[in-house]
Amino acid sequence: MILHVLGSCAGTEPMPGRHHTSAALEAGGRLYVLDAGEGCAYTAHLLGLNLMNLQAVFLSHTHMDHIGGLAHLLWTMRKLCVLSPENSRRMQDREIPVFLPEERAFSAILDFLRCTEGGFKTVFRPVSRPMTDGLLFNDGVLSVYALHNHHWEPAAGEPWKSYSFSVEGEGKKLCYSGDFKELEEVLPLAEHANLILLETGHHRAVDLCRELLASGIPFGKVLFFHHGRAILKDFEGELAQAREVLGDRVSFAQDGMRVEF
Ligand SMILES: [Zn+2]
Ligand SMILES: [Zn+2]
Repeated sequence: MILHVLGSCAGTEPMPGRHHTSAALEAGGRLYVLDAGEGCAYTAHLLGLNLMNLQAVFLSHTHMDHIGGLAHLLWTMRKLCVLSPENSRRMQDREIPVFLPEERAFSAILDFLRCTEGGFKTVFRPVSRPMTDGLLFNDGVLSVYALHNHHWEPAAGEPWKSYSFSVEGEGKKLCYSGDFKELEEVLPLAEHANLILLETGHHRAVDLCRELLASGIPFGKVLFFHHGRAILKDFEGELAQAREVLGDRVSFAQDGMRVEF
């Protein structure tokens, strides 16, 4: 499995060289997008990823730094179909499921897109799918599981509003934290993961490294992403501290980074 970092930044003001959070997974010649921060389609396309291979989108929650690029992603896919009869043929009648905890956000984005070029008539069909705990998706290549967390507390009676994921396929496992409150919310997904993506928008990398070790779960490598302002002020210093705990098992994500695992 190959992970491409399309955006490594948390919901800060614009930062040089970084876009808001998004990752693309490549497996079995297919593409899957985890979170869709601004610029995700731009970065994916310029990295040479073929958006016509996209199977599904998984949005951990509907904060802007995770959903701000969804409209442009769908728009770019439509544009690539308009520009190429071959793309258009390939995408004909394909359903592109978008899993998210807040259906209203998806309908609003589609309404907005219908006010753009061509009324956003597409040969493919973007459809929303509800987010729930447990198995969300299995296309025979990848299985995606979701688990809610307390990053965004719902009001009484409301459904959970933020999730983390684990993805399994090709004999590998990825844990994707999205935003979370406590590491223990993510641990059930992180156990036996070959690669764990943890966010630094609300946590210090060195603290999470210590907590991971103390948890006693088996895991492979850790990639920190969703960088907040604090870590960006001293990127090398924070990385050095994290490496004192986990050595070269730890990396810090950059936009455009490719990680094979
Ligand atoms: Zn965020
Ligand atoms: Zn958030």
